[in-house]
Amino acid sequence: MTTALLTHADCLMHVTPDGHPEQVARLEHVLHALEGMDLKRVTAPLAAEDDILRVHPASYLADLRRNLPADGLHTIDADTYLSPGSLHAAFRAAGASVRAVDMVLSGEVQNAFCAIRPPGHHAETDTAMGFCLFGNAALAAKHALDHHGLKRVAVVDFDVHHGNGTQDLLWDEARALVITSQQMPLWPGTGRADETGAHDTILNLPLPPGSGGAEMRRVYQQDAFPRLRAFKPDLIVISAGFDAHASDPLAQLYWKTEDFAWITAQICAIAAEICGGRVVSVLEGGYDLAALAASARAHVDELMKAPS
Ligand SMILES: [Zn+2]
Repeated sequence: MTTALLTHADCLMHVTPDGHPEQVARLEHVLHALEGMDLKRVTAPLAAEDDILRVHPASYLADLRRNLPADGLHTIDADTYLSPGSLHAAFRAAGASVRAVDMVLSGEVQNAFCAIRPPGHHAETDTAMGFCLFGNAALAAKHALDHHGLKRVAVVDFDVHHGNGTQDLLWDEARALVITSQQMPLWPGTGRADETGAHDTILNLPLPPGSGGAEMRRVYQQDAFPRLRAFKPDLIVISAGFDAHASDPLAQLYWKTEDFAWITAQICAIAAEICGGRVVSVLEGGYDLAALAASARAHVDELMKAPS
């Protein structure tokens, strides 16, 4: 069995202001780190509009299109921008996520990593925020449920920031378990343990600033993994953010590269137990370029070694 790598050069055409942490160089560093690995390399398609509309209303898509600048930048908020290439990039990012689900569910590959930007887990139903335009992980989960007819899908989000967008998009979805760990307090401020969704299918795991890999492992082993096993998803989607790394400039957790390898291996082992090893991982944050590259490589290396 193989691991797919889905990406597209269009994801480099989403440009942010000078000095912005969510920069083109992030994806260049990730792709460079994955060079030479024995991956099935796939050119990401553009998402179909229906893929986007599973989680965002048509009015939201129309707003993004109307605000797309012909040149320069359009400011959505203090963090989030549109450049002329942003929507193409976002449609490729969403398209990669959907195609990865198709490939994993068809058995063409065992698992897949989507090296994409803009990231997605902060995008709410009709609000772009936190560098994110479309909820890639949520729309991948919805595609698996509604298009492929899976009974249950889980999303595991280990980005250092709360996956408020994924939580919002899947709040009412009883067929999706969302497990999200985040530093708290930290932007965007949500992600308390008492935010559990309309059907008690959201598990928030706040982590204190200054904590490291040991605390993360304890919380995942005690709370996240038993919940994941009990839910018995047919597919696991990972929101793979690497900004909990000790070197990351945007947060104060102290995970090391091997912690990202550990959590990936654990999720893959559970996937092998309960859903034939079917995992789709989508890139979220990670803003120290060297730490991002090393952590993404360690993550993909574990996907490649995963049991089926
Ligand atoms: Zn983040």
